Amino acid sequence: MELISGEIAVDITNYYATSEQIPTACALGVLVDSENGQVLLAGGLLIQVLPGAYPEDLEKLEENVAKLEPVTTMLAKGMSVEDMCRVALDGFEMEVLDEMPVHYACNCSWEKYYNALSTLEPEEIETLPTTDGKAEAVCPYCNRKYYFTTEDLKALAEKVRETRASFEQ
Ligand SMILES: [Zn+2]
Repeated sequence: MELISGEIAVDITNYYATSEQIPTACALGVLVDSENGQVLLAGGLLIQVLPGAYPEDLEKLEENVAKLEPVTTMLAKGMSVEDMCRVALDGFEMEVLDEMPVHYACNCSWEKYYNALSTLEPEEIETLPTTDGKAEAVCPYCNRKYYFTTEDLKALAEKVRETRASFEQ
C-alpha cells in the first residue's frame, strides 16, 4: 500500500477506501510540548459505515466530519471520546457498546533482541562494536536499551555455528 501523504489519518482513510473498500473518516491529533518533546495530548477517531449504508447518511457523516474541530482542540477543551463521537455523529442515534482503557506498551525484551542477532553471520556477531565490553541495542519503538556482553555475543555466535553445522550434516 502506497502512502499518499505521510499524514497518518489521510493515509489510513485512503487505505480503507482503496484496499478495504470501506468509507472511513479518520481524525488524529497529537500535541507535543515543544520544549521537552513530551506528548501532552493524543487521540483520534475512526468512523466506518456498515455495508448497505444510505448515500444520504454517508453525505451527512462527511459533512459532520468536515465540520469537526481538530482533535487536539477538542481534547484540550476536555471533551471525551464519547463527546467527540457525538459531534461526529450529530443527527445519528448513538449507542456506546464498549469502553476500554488504552495504554502504550512495547513487547520487546532482551531475549527478543538477542535472538534477532542470530540472523547475522557468526563473524558479524563476534565483531559487533562494543563499548566497555558491551554491545548496545536500542528499541526503535520504546527507546529501551539492551546490552550484550562480549561473552553473550561469543556464545550466540557459537550457537549459530552449531545450528548451521547441524543443518549441513
Ligand atoms: Zn521496545
